[in-house]
Amino acid sequence: MMDGIAGRIAERIRHGGPISVAAFMTEAMFDPREGFYATRNPIGAGEDFITAPAVSQMFGELIGLWCGQVWMDMGRPAAFHLVELGPGTGQMMSDVIRAGRAVPGFMAAAQFHLIEASPALKMVQGRTLTPMGVEIGWLDRIEDIPPGPAILLGNEFLDCLPVRQAVKQKGQWHERLIGLDETGEAFRFVMGPRLGTEADLVPERLREAPDGTLAELRPGDQQVVDHLARRFAGQPGHALFIDYGPAQSEAGDTFQAIRQHQKADPLEAPGTADLTARVDFEQLAHFARQGGLAVTGPAPQGDWLRAMGLEVRAAALIGQAPELKTKIARQVMRLSEPDQMGELFKVMAISAQGLPKPPGFTGDG
Ligand code: SAH
Repeated sequence: MMDGIAGRIAERIRHGGPISVAAFMTEAMFDPREGFYATRNPIGAGEDFITAPAVSQMFGELIGLWCGQVWMDMGRPAAFHLVELGPGTGQMMSDVIRAGRAVPGFMAAAQFHLIEASPALKMVQGRTLTPMGVEIGWLDRIEDIPPGPAILLGNEFLDCLPVRQAVKQKGQWHERLIGLDETGEAFRFVMGPRLGTEADLVPERLREAPDGTLAELRPGDQQVVDHLARRFAGQPGHALFIDYGPAQSEAGDTFQAIRQHQKADPLEAPGTADLTARVDFEQLAHFARQGGLAVTGPAPQGDWLRAMGLEVRAAALIGQAPELKTKIARQVMRLSEPDQMGELFKVMAISAQGLPKPPGFTGDG
C-alpha cells in the first residue's frame, strides 16, 4: 500500500490519469508536509548530496568577486538587488558577502534577497546568514524582485526545475508520462498523447532526431529566462547560473534521484530522494537570445574558477593557515578537475544588452 506522497500521487493518477514528469517532481520535492525540500536540509556531507559551496568557501568568494566586478561594470549603481535563487544552506551567500566587503561601496549599494521554496531551508539560511549582520529578505518568486539594477545567482537551481519528457514516435513527439503499473502499487513510465504547441520546447538540435529519441523539455528555464528578458529590457543586470549539464543539447533521459549520495530509482519513494535533471545550456542560451538577452559561456566550472583566481585564492588561504594545505588543495581539485566538478558543471551568464562582458569567461562564448 502506498502512503504519504506516493499515495497522494497514486490517487491523483487513479482519478485523472498519468501525470507529467514535471508534476511528479513538483509533488515529490515540494509537497508542503513531506516533500523532499519542504521538510529537511538535504545538503552536506552527512546528508543526501553535496554542492560546490559546501566543498569550499572559495567557490562563493570567487562568485562574490564576480558580483563586485559586474557591479562596477554597470557603473556602480548606488542601489541594486543581489538575489540568490535556491540558496540551500545559505553558505554561498555568506561567502559572497565576505568577498563583497572587499569591494569599496558594494555592500552599501546591495539589497539582498533570497528566493527559496522550502520552509525548512529558509530556517537554515536564516541561521547561516544572521551572523553576517546584513539585512536579507526572502521572496517567493523571481517576479517579486523589486525594480532596479540586479545581479541574480543560481547554483544548482535550474537542475531542480521540473522537466517534461517526450519521445519521438512515427515522426511525432509524444509526452512520456508517469502512471501506475498493473498492481497499482508502483509507478512506471507510460506513453502519453502527442505534444501540441509544447513541442516548441523540444531543443532545436533534437527536433529532427530519429524515432525512439527521448528529449527533455524545460518549461521552467523558459519561465526564468522570460522574466530576465522583461527585467533586463529596461534595467541593467546579470544572472549567473552554475549547474551540471552539457554545452550542447543531448538526447536521453537524465531524470535522476540521489539519496544519501547514491543514485536511486526516481519513481520509487517520492519525497525521500533529490530529483533533478541535467540543464541543457544550449537550450538555455537559445531561450535567452530569443528573449533579446546577451549570453556569455557556458564555460566549464574549472576554467571559470581558474580565470576568476581560484589558485591565487587557494594560495592566500594556505598562506594564512599552512596546516590546511592538503585540505585546500583537495578542495581546489574537487571544484576544478575535469573528472570531478570541473567539466560537467558549467557556468553561464545571461545579461542585459550593452554591458561589458562579465569576467571569468576566457573563450569567445
Ligand atoms: N544553491 C544551493 C542549493 C542547491 S539545491 C547550493 O548550491 O548548495 C536547490 C535549492 O533550490 C534548494 O534550496 C531548493 O529548496 C531550491 N529550489 C528548488 N526549486 C525551487 C523553486 N521553484 N523556487 C525556489 N527555490 C527552489
